[in-house]
Amino acid sequence: MTLELNAKDVVDVLDNKGIKYLYHANTVLTSCTFLKNSGLLSRGAVESHNLRQTYQYTDQIDKQYNIWYDIFLDNCDIHKRGSNRNLYGPVLFCFDLKILLRKALPPIYITKKNPSNWDNTDHKGDRYFQSIEELEKEYIFGTYGHTITLKNTNQVLPFGRDLKQIIIDDPQVDNLYKNAVEEIIKAGKKGNINNIKNLIIRRECNLNCKCEQYYYENKMDLNRLFSMDGDK
Ligand SMILES: [Zn+2]
Repeated sequence: MTLELNAKDVVDVLDNKGIKYLYHANTVLTSCTFLKNSGLLSRGAVESHNLRQTYQYTDQIDKQYNIWYDIFLDNCDIHKRGSNRNLYGPVLFCFDLKILLRKALPPIYITKKNPSNWDNTDHKGDRYFQSIEELEKEYIFGTYGHTITLKNTNQVLPFGRDLKQIIIDDPQVDNLYKNAVEEIIKAGKKGNINNIKNLIIRRECNLNCKCEQYYYENKMDLNRLFSMDGDK
């Protein structure tokens, strides 16, 4: 039995559920690696090509469950929806859903819950949707655990024309936001992303958003999240 889903069918199901965009959040340093290479890479691919990335809290789990070489895409802007920072970082890449229609796309699997909540005893059927029918019935927009994963890839998934926006958090600490934007633009130019400047927008938070408080209270983490030596 394979848990791979047909890409066209996945796009139809998500589209019918009102999902038009897919998202990937990361730190400034790791995002710059993506931009310089003109596309997304799995954690394993960044490592195997000797590129730079910051630590993520899920790294050990990713290796344990053999998803270290997977690319992850969310179905919503988790920061906006949860009124809190995205745990993976302050830079959010927004893609047209059609990115899943690329030729030579790695196999698509969709998780039922975040791997950090997987239990060692789970069977694969508890971890991933097993069929398009099940997806149609149970896939829900805004459910954080319902993550699209492109399995086991050591290649770049090129942004092409499907990269629509790059939303960056402003922690309002020193020049972190301004510097992050400069680095993102520089990296985008290196990766020949022509309209890089027009893609970037500063995040506008909900009134009750808790990100500002997190950034203020966790200055120790700001270097990892926002700076170009965040992997040090
Ligand atoms: Zn916020």
